[in-house]
Amino acid sequence: MANEPRANDPHAAFRRNSLLRLAGLIGEEVLSEHEKHRSDCAFCRDEWNELIREREAHSSDEQVPHIPPRMLVNWKEVGASVGVIEREALARHLDHCDQCCRELRFLGFEPKVEAPQEAERAIDLPELADDVQRWRARIGELARQVASLLVPTPLPVAVHRGVPRNEVDEQRMLGLAAYTNGEYETAAERLGDVVKARPEDAETALYFGSAVCLSGLPREASEIFRQVFESTDSEELEEESLWQLAQATAGLGDIDEARTVLHSVTVYDGENASRAREMLKRLETLPPA
Ligand SMILES: [Zn+2]
Ligand SMILES: [Zn+2]
Repeated sequence: MANEPRANDPHAAFRRNSLLRLAGLIGEEVLSEHEKHRSDCAFCRDEWNELIREREAHSSDEQVPHIPPRMLVNWKEVGASVGVIEREALARHLDHCDQCCRELRFLGFEPKVEAPQEAERAIDLPELADDVQRWRARIGELARQVASLLVPTPLPVAVHRGVPRNEVDEQRMLGLAAYTNGEYETAAERLGDVVKARPEDAETALYFGSAVCLSGLPREASEIFRQVFESTDSEELEEESLWQLAQATAGLGDIDEARTVLHSVTVYDGENASRAREMLKRLETLPPA
């Protein structure tokens, strides 16, 4: 039986090398040791066959696929090399998948996703292998399904007829017109002036926040939505501001915070509350293991 220099237990070494082999990361010499052990040891042969079977069965179904071997063997770098949604998918997968947890322990890692380091995506997994790319694509698809539900959408604008009585009214009208036309930067500018002149106008502030968010500034928008929520007495505006806040928060990539905000939307009675419940259900199932 071939001796693995780093481990006393040749069966444990075989198991570790199995993952390296699937990741395409073992050299000729270890590969032939691996082959030899596989033909000598019925127990490890069964384990190997099971490993292959499990991964093949899993790769075709609807679920999030197992964590690719290439990621497992580079586990230390993974936390820093994946984005928020991917990290979330990994964490959830590990919550549900004993096999991936077992494999990580075999490799000497804790089955936990490391917290992201300062420079997100600064470290690349060694030459993105096909299995990693396939996994990413699958996660990306699931993430898009979630993201499409969390994308900020414009608020409906009631048509106001009549002649503006003063300059602020006129700004408001022009701002809402720009908003309706999808000119969000112009809308944000005009509505911002209105809000400055009439800080008590929570409804306009809501449109202002939405325009800011749709101009691509979700962080600034979240601040505005929080202020609207705190300043208004109208339940309708509270619900809408929280709903908008959830979308802005998701836009910042903070899915956990978005979830918390969505929960707070569900206590209201309006349409957004049922949308929030629906979205929370989706977030529960996507991306699961
Ligand atoms: Zn063995
Ligand atoms: Zn798994």
